[in-house]
Amino acid sequence: MSVDMTAAYRAIDGALAAHRDELTALSLDLHAHPELAMAEHRSAGLLTDMLRRNGFRVECGIAGLPTAFRAEYGTGTPRVAFLCEYDALPEIGHGCGHNLIAAGGVGAALALAGTGLAGTVCVIGTPGEEGAGGKILELDRGVFDDVDAALMFHPGDRTLPIRHATAAQKLVVEYHGVAAHAAGSPADGRSALAGLIQLFVAVDAMRQFVPETVRLHGIITHGGTAANVVPEYARGEFQVRDLTRESVGELVSRFRAAAQGTAAATGTTVEITPGLLYAERKNNHPLAFRVADHLRTAGIDVETPVLRGGTGSSDIGNVSLALPTIHPYLAVLPRGTATHSREMTRLVATPEAHEATWTMAGALARTGADLLADAEFRDAVRDDFVQCPPDYPA
Ligand SMILES: [Zn+2]
Ligand SMILES: [Zn+2]
Repeated sequence: MSVDMTAAYRAIDGALAAHRDELTALSLDLHAHPELAMAEHRSAGLLTDMLRRNGFRVECGIAGLPTAFRAEYGTGTPRVAFLCEYDALPEIGHGCGHNLIAAGGVGAALALAGTGLAGTVCVIGTPGEEGAGGKILELDRGVFDDVDAALMFHPGDRTLPIRHATAAQKLVVEYHGVAAHAAGSPADGRSALAGLIQLFVAVDAMRQFVPETVRLHGIITHGGTAANVVPEYARGEFQVRDLTRESVGELVSRFRAAAQGTAAATGTTVEITPGLLYAERKNNHPLAFRVADHLRTAGIDVETPVLRGGTGSSDIGNVSLALPTIHPYLAVLPRGTATHSREMTRLVATPEAHEATWTMAGALARTGADLLADAEFRDAVRDDFVQCPPDYPA
């Protein structure tokens, strides 16, 4: 490698120090004005304003998503992208800490741009992580086509370079029956709610005969309008999760058969509308372990990856199957703190959480510099992507 990485790393630290106060203010502003999935207009505006002020070319509303954006600095290849999530949760605000992801991603990009290394530094604004699958839509619409690697991190209660995440399929289930007086003429009615309740019973029966890695869960969002009317309409939402998309596909077939069965049993009809399919996560090992090395050098404890249990799903999975991608975790919470909690909302606005985030931004920017400057490292990253399957729990 002919490039002086010491100088590049020094430039990264200098840029992060210079922007630290502004980045902290950005994170706290996002935190104080939480916006829900796909409605992050103000947040996207704050992020793109800061990028524009620092010389990035910005395109807003990409992929047909008003709150998505892509910003670029430099030209040509390689192209390294930092991903920003900035949606919040209903009622509890930034209980998933996406304010830190967004400000950290912008910080990493500004820092890498400051090295002057050849190539393009991208920031991709990925809205609607919480259920709306912004990255999946962006991926399908070509936003990642020319990107060589996608880097982001997620705050949590431990620092881990890699972690598995399950594939997941959301399903909206609607039963249609016949309304009738529930006491006067119940024999004329057919209860859509009964069909839906029996589906929950059928899913519970299925649970014993699926691999232990499977998660099947749902809610009733509409169960009728009056106790004295046989419900003619009932609606539920389910999620089917397992290690791979293939396994989820088979489970969805069984789920559909069960839904048809309970419709037949209750004299109703059923409609199933699938949502986006979230793919399992494929962590790029050379990238993830390079970030871990940089974090250790900066004095952060990095734990041995735990691959089993306790994982959800994210739209980063789909991106990770298309190009080299990392999604390491950064400890900003005491061990055992629940995510998506009011406690997490409080803790992702502390000085300590921001301090850790800037260290992570430095590690991500250093890894980006390694990618831009080191062709051998790029080859290792590419080889791992082509040759290695996703990490599955042991
Ligand atoms: Zn999150
Ligand atoms: Zn979340």
